[in-house]
Amino acid sequence: MTGQRESILISVAQVLRRAGVQHPLQRSARLDELRVGDAAVPADTEIVIDLVLEATGTAVVATGLVRTVATCACRRCLEPFEQPVVATIREIFEPRPTEGETYPLVSEHIDVVPLVRDSVLLSLPLAPLCRDECPGPAPERFSAAPGPSEDVAADIGRDHDAGPEPDWTEPPRDPRWAALDQLKLDR
Ligand SMILES: [Zn+2]
Repeated sequence: MTGQRESILISVAQVLRRAGVQHPLQRSARLDELRVGDAAVPADTEIVIDLVLEATGTAVVATGLVRTVATCACRRCLEPFEQPVVATIREIFEPRPTEGETYPLVSEHIDVVPLVRDSVLLSLPLAPLCRDECPGPAPERFSAAPGPSEDVAADIGRDHDAGPEPDWTEPPRDPRWAALDQLKLDR
């Protein structure tokens, strides 16, 4: 991941000259892959940027939404699925930014890519679940016969310390996920 190849520079000269006036900013971006664990926005996926820019002093406040679609691996059944990602934006661009808090405003231009990247990464699900009632892997896929699914079965056994006949209707869960569940955003 290069991470640095993209930038979307927006002139905010007009925004700065008309303090208090809201300027819509709508763009579409396609970036490198954005990944957190088992959830990712693949490279070149369309990311819709729908913001309003407003000057306050020498700073520009950006509010609005960033929307895209993530490809996730379900934490229970391991199947891939797609999930919409919507990030609510309220960020500040300023000439002397504070690292980790505000974004730079240089020569009356802002680069919205760092904001988009940060907001999408923060909005990806930490413990993806294909559906609330996902029962976990289908038992027939994990029969004793050796086959392509053997690796997956071995993987599950390792993580869950399952007995010889696991009851998949009530899948054993890795206790580490419990903490992540509490962090999960309401959807
Ligand atoms: Zn699932």
